[in-house]
Amino acid sequence: MSGLIDQLRAIVGEPYVITSDFAAYANDWRKKYFGKPLVVVKPGTPEEVAAIVRLCAATSTALVPQAGNTGLVGGGVPDESGTQVILNVSRMNRVLEVDLTNNTMTVEAGCILQNLQDTAAANNRLFPLSLAAEGSCEIGGNISTNAGGVQVLRYGNTRELVLGLEVVLPSGEIWSGLKGLRKDNTGYDLKHLFIGAEGTLGIVTKAVLKLFPMPSATQTAFVGLASPRKALELLNHMKAALGERITAFELISHFALDVLERFNPALRSPLGETHAWYVLTDIADSRDAAALAEDVEAALGSAMEADLIADAALAKNETEARRMWDLRETLPEAQSVDGRNIKHDVSLPISKIADFIDAADAALDAAYPGVRPVNFGHLGDGNLHYNITRPRDGFTEDEWMNNASEPVNRIVHDCVARFNGSISAEHGLGQLKREEIKRYKSEIELNVMRAIKNALDPKGIMNPGKVL
Ligand code: FAD
Ligand code: ZN
Repeated sequence: MSGLIDQLRAIVGEPYVITSDFAAYANDWRKKYFGKPLVVVKPGTPEEVAAIVRLCAATSTALVPQAGNTGLVGGGVPDESGTQVILNVSRMNRVLEVDLTNNTMTVEAGCILQNLQDTAAANNRLFPLSLAAEGSCEIGGNISTNAGGVQVLRYGNTRELVLGLEVVLPSGEIWSGLKGLRKDNTGYDLKHLFIGAEGTLGIVTKAVLKLFPMPSATQTAFVGLASPRKALELLNHMKAALGERITAFELISHFALDVLERFNPALRSPLGETHAWYVLTDIADSRDAAALAEDVEAALGSAMEADLIADAALAKNETEARRMWDLRETLPEAQSVDGRNIKHDVSLPISKIADFIDAADAALDAAYPGVRPVNFGHLGDGNLHYNITRPRDGFTEDEWMNNASEPVNRIVHDCVARFNGSISAEHGLGQLKREEIKRYKSEIELNVMRAIKNALDPKGIMNPGKVL
């Protein structure tokens, strides 16, 4: 194997071939997977990526593409065999072009998402992809997971934000589809194959991304209400009153908020009283802030009169808005304050979310009395992070994670299937749900996916053991 490592050094240069201290690359963010790579290689150009892929193809060496390593399903970390090469794209981190007339930017795969938001903002544009990991996840990873986040309701997920891609195929060829076109009906739209493929079909090296007008005003509100059903009614009420200006609509359960307050007492609800459920919403437009605040106040006022909501706080300035969003964004980290929980990233038709929560809560409580769902998510686009903490008595943390995960997944995912939902809304399948998906996707669909994989990657070198 030292021959392979020497050849990698010849391609990218000695400093960019890492042969020890793998932790930052080999372990995932949740510390669920502890991989053992042969080596980590950090190319600086697509040509170097192509040369690495050709070398790996010639030696039948497995490659694991990696960007910011914030993925939540073990997709970007290697197995424990000590034979896989991590190809990390973080060095390719330049913005190559901003085209203000076409409203696009062309970027390299290793650009950190927050830097792209900042680049757009510096040009008075919005790049709307937004998630709690934005300070460290990279656009190549976002594209490969088809990341969602908090503004999907208005702007769509990553798939809707990508106009063109450059990809190094498993053969080592570079496919350049870097067109900034909004219309292009010239056969199969190949970029969509690679978006959400979790690195199993090739390595994304560049992308053309859509930009949007920067809203001049954003109003944030934190609302207390009685149930997910009321939250859905509020969503419809606000859509009728405020139209497409609603950019985020997040649901948080009382228990999730309680968890936050115990994690960090500074993280408190801005409302005086406690409520069974909360909604955090952003409404943005290009009018002045005072006019927008008036519209939002009126919409929430009529929601209160119609008994949809119990209380609401409007952020008076950016600091107050930031404080409200800190609640939502700290949840992924805070939720383990009562011990690790069994996580689900599910989506449902929006109309079925309340029915799903009732059914899943009841089924879990029947199987495990006293079980505690930390339930929060992107209600506006039908995505819940429905994470199950053990009952106060009866299980140690390890017992819960080791013995209850499978039956709990079965209850939750069967319930998702009953309402025609998906067991992975935005995080992907990776290693975590690779077996589970076989229960919920038809054999026809899985066979089409396998055929595509075999056509592009007949040697199976590109992120083996993930997705399929
Ligand atoms: P990585 O973790 O490095 O890789 C992810 C997958 O993409 C892997 O399968 C990898 O092999 C593949 N890959 C990476 N780069 C490439 C490339 N250049 N070419 C081909 N394949 C590649 N996700 C959401 O969708 N919405 C959220 O709201 C959200 N919130 C999060 C909050 C926190 C606190 C954390 C830690 C994660 C969150 N995530 C969320 C998950 C994660 O941030 C996203 O999946 C993100 O898109 C991953 O980007 P990354 O750069 O870290 O990719
Ligand atoms: Zn999410």
